[in-house]
Amino acid sequence: MKLFNSLTRNVEEFVTNEPGKVSMYTCGPTVYHYAHIGNLRSYICEDILEKILRFSGYDVKRVMNITDVGHLASDADTGEDKMLKGAKREHKSVMEIAQFYTEAFFADCAKLNIKTPDVVEPATNCIPEFINMIEGLLEKGYAYKAGENVYFDTSKLENYYVFGNQNEDELRVGVRDDVTEDTNKRNKNDFVLWFTKSKFEDQALKWESPWGVGYPGWHIECSCIGMKHLGEKMDIHCGGVDNMFPHHTNEVAQSESFIGHKWCNYWFHVHHLNDETGKMSKSKGEFLTVSLLEEKGYDPLVYRLFALQSHYRKPLTFSFETLDQTVTTYKKLKSRIASIPEDGEADNASVKEWHDKFAEAVGNDCNTAMGLTLLYDVIKSDLNGATKRAIIADYDTVLSLDLFKAPKEDEIDEELVHFVEEKIAERSEAKKARDFAKADAIRDELKARGIIIKDTREGVEWSRE
Ligand code: AMP
Ligand code: ZN
Repeated sequence: MKLFNSLTRNVEEFVTNEPGKVSMYTCGPTVYHYAHIGNLRSYICEDILEKILRFSGYDVKRVMNITDVGHLASDADTGEDKMLKGAKREHKSVMEIAQFYTEAFFADCAKLNIKTPDVVEPATNCIPEFINMIEGLLEKGYAYKAGENVYFDTSKLENYYVFGNQNEDELRVGVRDDVTEDTNKRNKNDFVLWFTKSKFEDQALKWESPWGVGYPGWHIECSCIGMKHLGEKMDIHCGGVDNMFPHHTNEVAQSESFIGHKWCNYWFHVHHLNDETGKMSKSKGEFLTVSLLEEKGYDPLVYRLFALQSHYRKPLTFSFETLDQTVTTYKKLKSRIASIPEDGEADNASVKEWHDKFAEAVGNDCNTAMGLTLLYDVIKSDLNGATKRAIIADYDTVLSLDLFKAPKEDEIDEELVHFVEEKIAERSEAKKARDFAKADAIRDELKARGIIIKDTREGVEWSRE
């Protein structure tokens, strides 16, 4: 298995801490609104990554947080709390909003065949863990109190910018005009671990802490939830590419300062889904959701296929035109699979051989497009029907496109007519060539699929059994 690692900016051989086991962490949604299909691109790619690892024989434990507190409108600790904003918009409590949008998120994931991670933990469940880590950071001198908040001191690190080469001097407070408004910060990129002196008098969720009543910053949750369930060493951490800075950079800073050693070995970042105006984002107001796609008559799995056709490390531009092309691709693919005859017995050696080919193809930095190409190769191959079906079922444990599920009625008819007509023409050719055994085999094949044919003076008639 090869993966691009954002830490080294190279495609590397994936080597786990414990042979055969993968500890995997995914940044979960901020549940103040529906997930848009951009967010869901990230979750589809992360789901595929998990399934590829399982397909390759790894035992995976995957953990995801739910951000239900602490994420402010700006990643630089400024602006309104996103959860509070959602609650105000809908005249509900923060907890009601969190519950509603958490459920909506998993409902969308289910429609896209995204598996729920083994552990899902909301940030508000883990306040004692956050306090424990922040106390540790204060003790070790990596954090300081100022203006009644607790901050992480980024100047204490030799290499804060683990994913890039930003120029530190340029970013120091006061050096540039557009630097932070928070004058408590000693360095521009210092970030809040715990807020007590909130600018939001109406902050709904607050907890007792050694530093007074308050609430956690955003980044601390992923470090603590990750360690709570996966221990101090993690194999792989995922998120959208916008999470690289500051979120993941800050996660690494506080986690490694706290434990005193390397935390996570591989970082997997999914590039953005864009629309004509740029990155799709929740704060833009107008955004595309799974429900909206459904209202427009799209099967959500068409969007999954749309995402799998491109590589996760390339930005992807969404348009309904391309989605329509994917509708056709998906329909054709399914009808070709539906018309694979039910003949023979699955040949296990071939199934294994094609399994390994697929593992190698998609195991090359999640090359899902290559995986789809292999799927077409299987369909086109001269393997018997039962073997093809077994291989396709195997591939679908990763692709999760419901490849054997019948499309809607009207679509079946169109495809079925096409299939039957082709078979009848083939049978006529066989008869002309006096190959009656072949002609009978075709008749039987159609019968096995519930199609009865009758030779009449006008030609061949057919009907469903
Ligand atoms: P959020 O709910 O805002 O915390 O984001 C959830 C996930 O979606 C994170 O991993 C983000 O990095 C990711 N994300 C946000 N916008 C996009 C986008 N336009 N395309 C792909 N992923 C995104
Ligand atoms: Zn996170």
